[in-house]
Amino acid sequence: RKLGIALVGLGSYSSQRLAPALQQTQHCRLAGIVTGTPSKAAEWMQKYNIPKANVYDYKTFDQIADNKDIDVVYVVLPNSMHAEYVIRAAKAGKHVICEKPLAIMPKECQDMIDACKKANRQLAVGYRLHYEPFTKEVMRLGQEKVFGPVKFMESSDAFRIGDPTQWRMKKAMAGGGPLMDVGIYAVQGARYVTGEEPISVTAQFSPKTEPEKFKEVEETLFWQFQFPSGAVCNSTTSYTAGVERLYASCQNGWFELSPAFGYGPLKGRTSKGPIEQPVVNHQAVHMDGVCKDLMDGKQLPNHITGEEGLRDVRLLQAIYRAAETGRKIELKS
Ligand code: NAD
Repeated sequence: RKLGIALVGLGSYSSQRLAPALQQTQHCRLAGIVTGTPSKAAEWMQKYNIPKANVYDYKTFDQIADNKDIDVVYVVLPNSMHAEYVIRAAKAGKHVICEKPLAIMPKECQDMIDACKKANRQLAVGYRLHYEPFTKEVMRLGQEKVFGPVKFMESSDAFRIGDPTQWRMKKAMAGGGPLMDVGIYAVQGARYVTGEEPISVTAQFSPKTEPEKFKEVEETLFWQFQFPSGAVCNSTTSYTAGVERLYASCQNGWFELSPAFGYGPLKGRTSKGPIEQPVVNHQAVHMDGVCKDLMDGKQLPNHITGEEGLRDVRLLQAIYRAAETGRKIELKS
């Protein structure tokens, strides 16, 4: 049997990545959709052979509780809407996968975690890279100190944004700018290479070079994490130009991924030569990994849970606080 997934929000990530990936998965299938746009519903029903009974809009969504075809609800909406739909999905008795960032503020993340616990359902974040072989290899190289302890790192993720009217540019919907959207990957990268939680952060906003465009959110942001071992990580995120690099300099060598966070193929090398790993569909291995554990009745691994999503959201907010105040922020783990 495969678990039935319902996608909530049929925007670009659902339509270009998740639905195609669900045609390749072994442990889950695209069983239902939740959309506010009737024309999209008709198109998806036909394209993916979805029965009418498994199609919901935002008003009828709660009736998903009565649908035995749907085991997992996958929330793929703008960031400000994650909390409401995760909580409603949990109340409907479904396991939930929620896109990153889990929410905008830590309090919402905690409410989402609590709602899933109360319903005895599991909550996973859409952290696809945790199942991706190049990423797993750099986690191993860093955490097992294959090149000795990590001394300093760069973990940066940025791109030039297109349409300036999209929700990503609206503070209320996105929670912020590139930090909320792709900077979160740089935060994750620093944490999964060191295997440590940062103890302090300093951060700086760049001056805006396109102030007309970046009225509500930051254009570029730099931050520095310090880790208990003494390792430091320098990061950049931006919506004005691109960088995608995860680099670790260790006592006896170095390793890097670049590109490090996109849909792949990722590419990596070390001071001893190239990193060779299989190229996979990130979304397929992520959904399969989560759904296999759900099907086997196992607790999801820590690195993919709501608590992990909450840790990152706390760090994102600490980075903003550091940039706004110009002060070093001490972090509690
Ligand atoms: P998108 O703008 O392409 O799609 C958003 C969807 O939400 C659309 O279908 C839109 O109709 C719907 N929606 C419902 N109410 C809305 C409202 N009030 N305003 C705007 N849209 C509304 O966005 P996307 O790129 O698909 O991103 C959705 C989520 O997925 C975000 O949280 C994003 O961070 C995440 N995402 C993750 C990855 C990844 O690699 N894990 C990649 C892209 C996006």
